[in-house]
Amino acid sequence: MDYVSLARPPVRLLHPYSAGTTIEGAKRRFDLARVIKLSSNENPRGSSPKALAAMATLTDAHLYADDDHRELRARLSEPHGLRIENTILGHGSNEILLMFFLTFVGPGDEVVMADPTFSLFPADAIETGATPVRVPLRDGVHDLDAMLAAVTPRTKAAIVCDPNNPTATCVDPEAFSRFASELPPDVLLFIDQAYREYMPAKSVEGIDYVKSRRGTLVTRTMSKLYGLASVRFGYGFGDEGMIDLLQRVRVPFNVSSPAALAALGALDDDAFRTATIAMNDEGKAYLSAELRRLGMFAYPSAANFVAVRVPVAAEAAYTDLLRRGIVVRSGDQLGLPNFLRITIGLPEENRELIAALEAELPAWRERAPVPA
Ligand SMILES: *Cc1c(COP(=O)(O)O)cnc(C)c1O
Repeated sequence: MDYVSLARPPVRLLHPYSAGTTIEGAKRRFDLARVIKLSSNENPRGSSPKALAAMATLTDAHLYADDDHRELRARLSEPHGLRIENTILGHGSNEILLMFFLTFVGPGDEVVMADPTFSLFPADAIETGATPVRVPLRDGVHDLDAMLAAVTPRTKAAIVCDPNNPTATCVDPEAFSRFASELPPDVLLFIDQAYREYMPAKSVEGIDYVKSRRGTLVTRTMSKLYGLASVRFGYGFGDEGMIDLLQRVRVPFNVSSPAALAALGALDDDAFRTATIAMNDEGKAYLSAELRRLGMFAYPSAANFVAVRVPVAAEAAYTDLLRRGIVVRSGDQLGLPNFLRITIGLPEENRELIAALEAELPAWRERAPVPA
């Protein structure tokens, strides 16, 4: 049977999502006993203990959960002056992104986004039969003026990833404010803020735009800050009309009971949140100073990872670090050639990373055709 010819045409254009190297995969490849994983922007401190404890209280796993999750939606929205009706929950924030596309985007539509940005944006656009309109970053940052200029009568939505994955950069809040007001009112605005909590004080608060600009959806996640990547819990805020439509395409019971329990527990875990942000800030300062000392360029990071330029092909640098037991993400797979995307780790992991870079650099620079 020729499945390819049976598939909807857009599906034929897609590739499976490629996740970073796993710890097991790394160990196997180079027969390593111990691996430092800095490839998927996970929380190096582990999970929120309160989230884990809450999850362990699970009972009645045989019953379908209360699919409204009213308490959880209230706890998420009220601190921001929003309501349950403004709040949608997802099996990770990635699922909310897909709900947004399924609800609003279809064949003939264009979706304006940065290049490079999070790979699921173009993938979801293609999956729904739309055209991703990719606007190159400028100095590693969303070029908001060029994105506005890319808007046509076919533009259904614009997506801003702030901070941007894979560069970790964020946009200037004033520039974003102008962008949001100049974007035509019938163009939807999707703001992915998976790394919101790591941003500097003066940053875009996507939630403000949910309140001030109709047609705006912002997503956040507990995958990163609360160390719950495997549990799958994300959430989004929009105005009531927007959320009501998203609810129509949401798969019933998309948020499992363990995930809902973990999310409630995490919301009580101020200590974990604060310590994670403090450690990330320190790690960021350390890496930034050390990379400067080594003469390596990195984009200023507003997240829990850094994009670092290497003087050789990213894939080669990735492999050399992997041999030393350090897993990073090759920019070649992220539309950022000659860069590595590296999660900020524990202090000891950061030191080992710097030592490995320092050890590899002479050979890399010798191999490099031009110094970078
Ligand atoms: C990690 C990440 C997410 C998180 O996705 P979840 O489905 O919530 O785990 C979303 N957007 C970006 C840009 C990310 O890097």
